[in-house]
Amino acid sequence: MSRDVIVIGGGVIGCSIAWRLAQAGLKVTVIERGRVGCEASRAAAGMLSPQGGAESGGPFFDLCLQSRAMYRKFGEELTQASGIDIEYKDEGTLFVVVEGEDQEEQTRWAKWQFEAGLPLEYLSADEVLKIEPAVTQLVTRGIFLPQEHQVENRRVMDALEVAIKRAGVELIEGCDVTAITTGRGEVTGVLCGSERLPADLVVLAAGTWSSQLLEPLGLNIRIIPALGQMIAVRDHASLIDRVIHSSKVYVVPRRDGRILIGATVEWTGFHKAVTAGAIKYLLSAALELVPSIGQLEIVETWSGLRPDTPDHLPIIGPGGVDNLLLATGHFRNGILLAPITAGLVAELISNGSLPDQLKPFGVERFKQAEESKWTEMPGARR
Ligand SMILES: Cc1cc2nc3c(=O)[nH]c(=O)nc-3n(C[C@H](O)[C@H](O)[C@H](O)COP(=O)(O)OP(=O)(O)OC[C@H]3O[C@@H](n4cnc5c(N)ncnc54)[C@H](O)[C@@H]3O)c2cc1C
Repeated sequence: MSRDVIVIGGGVIGCSIAWRLAQAGLKVTVIERGRVGCEASRAAAGMLSPQGGAESGGPFFDLCLQSRAMYRKFGEELTQASGIDIEYKDEGTLFVVVEGEDQEEQTRWAKWQFEAGLPLEYLSADEVLKIEPAVTQLVTRGIFLPQEHQVENRRVMDALEVAIKRAGVELIEGCDVTAITTGRGEVTGVLCGSERLPADLVVLAAGTWSSQLLEPLGLNIRIIPALGQMIAVRDHASLIDRVIHSSKVYVVPRRDGRILIGATVEWTGFHKAVTAGAIKYLLSAALELVPSIGQLEIVETWSGLRPDTPDHLPIIGPGGVDNLLLATGHFRNGILLAPITAGLVAELISNGSLPDQLKPFGVERFKQAEESKWTEMPGARR
């Protein structure tokens, strides 16, 4: 069987791209070694939050803002295509500063955004407690981001699975791509064990496992696993209405009554264990932020591996060998960036030219510049 495109990886990035390509009339196969969304894409918290904590603007910030602006429509389209509501919640996001913290330091990221006219409101402690009464009485300041929303990313993955199948995508699950095949200097398809699957184009969207398939092609591109651990508690009383962050943790209310507490960022290799130390850290930080969480039942703990890169930016575009495209390294923002990544990759494939927005995210940047040394960032992150 001949295919136009094989997408390696059935996470949010691979499935979103496959969906857009199938809608454009291409014959697409997604190959996923587990189940759709079984890795980072189901582990995520689903926050659509480019502004929160962003210290500066630039092409990446702009890309995130554009994707955020696309989300409501993306969600509606996905719901229509699949019959599954992705639970886009538009109550905005709240950041709080508490007693003992340096207000100026904790809100520095907000200053430039406020001056640049981005949607952002400074709140007093009383104003914070008025909109979120369960927040600690030790709150001294709040920042409200009215356009930072959330989706239930597990439902996004359920919806994408249905939508891609209905759009005619062939989905092969439980199949490990063991190699990307080449001939006469160009990519010709993939190998799954002993089975050779040909395609005109291969899109590599294998999340944090992407490097392993690139090395044999002589492409030394580092995608680094960044472990995130999470907890869910069951809330019967609608304790909080919106995503709330402190400098240490975030809490995310879901429609089904769970509150997610997250997340660690640990560069500890490919291990996905949920550890006692992380649980202790997350719970104590969450209780400092919303003390009554202490009364709630813990219903789930889990972890996932974010695909990080040496400069923490995604890699989207030509892969350095003909007929290979990369869409990986979305680190903490893959749920947020799925609509724009899929749209721009589809545009690249149909027009044959690289959209301007993708130019800063090419793989060449690692060849041109010496790898910037990446350091651990403090605090809880998506
Ligand atoms: C705890 C946590 C919280 C997060 N919170 C947020 C958030 O609030 N907002 C946000 O925007 N982002 C968040 N993220 C980040 C987001 O989850 C990721 O950026 C995103 O899921 C990456 O999607 P992906 O499709 O590239 O990777 P993945 O979802 O990991 O998908 C890659 C897929 O490729 C498959 N695969 C790998 N190798 C092969 C192979 N050889 N053959 C076949 N299949 C293969 C894997 O099985 C996997 O299913 C969070 C992540 C974590 C872990």
